Amino acid sequence: MVNEHFYKEIITTLQPSQTTLVAVSKLKPVSDIEQLYALGQRDFGENYVQELVEKQPQLPADIRWHFIGHLQSNKVKYIAPFVTIIQSVDSIKLLTEINKQAIKNNRTIACLLQVHIAEEQTKFGFNAAELQQLQPETFTHIDFAGVMGMATFTDDKQKVEREFQHLKSIFDDFKLHHTLPHFNTISMGMSDDYALAIQCGSNMVRIGSLLFGKRG
Ligand SMILES: *Cc1c(COP(=O)(O)O)cnc(C)c1O
Repeated sequence: MVNEHFYKEIITTLQPSQTTLVAVSKLKPVSDIEQLYALGQRDFGENYVQELVEKQPQLPADIRWHFIGHLQSNKVKYIAPFVTIIQSVDSIKLLTEINKQAIKNNRTIACLLQVHIAEEQTKFGFNAAELQQLQPETFTHIDFAGVMGMATFTDDKQKVEREFQHLKSIFDDFKLHHTLPHFNTISMGMSDDYALAIQCGSNMVRIGSLLFGKRG
């Protein structure tokens, strides 16, 4: 069941700042995605390779699929033919494999660099030092489109704000040091913290439970 009222509200809220809404449909049925699609939504986010590979052929071809979950290198090949953007790129090894699969599929794949901004060690992502080692030019078939991050799961708003500001500054720094024409996206903010994320410079929010209801 989709919360259509919230959908219309969030679309109106995001319009002035031209923030992109990614509807996170993990663990939700195809019928929910169809319902939101009928309202005009085209960007959907999925976390699990097998689930995405099963859903994609059942749904309209103009959906832009964002892969946002932890991605193992050996599974890139399954989504490489159709994925619009991989937001959860967290290692050189993974970049190398995405580039290889992009070449095989005769396409360029857009990627966001996932940055580790949270306190929890369970979250994934590059740290600032690793990003300094990264040489985007070496990946011929990857379109570096920006950064993605997840804040710590906490009620401490100031902590979340500091983490979002940190991601924004990492984005600014990376953009300054590389010539990447499409490096424009700051994907941060989920159901609980999207408003704060936008205040801190986000231009892409990934929202699941507020749109589709709680999972599981
Ligand atoms: C599940 C998930 C979301 C959406 O979370 P909600 O709290 O349901 O809005 C956003 N980003 C990532 C990376 C996720 O795994």
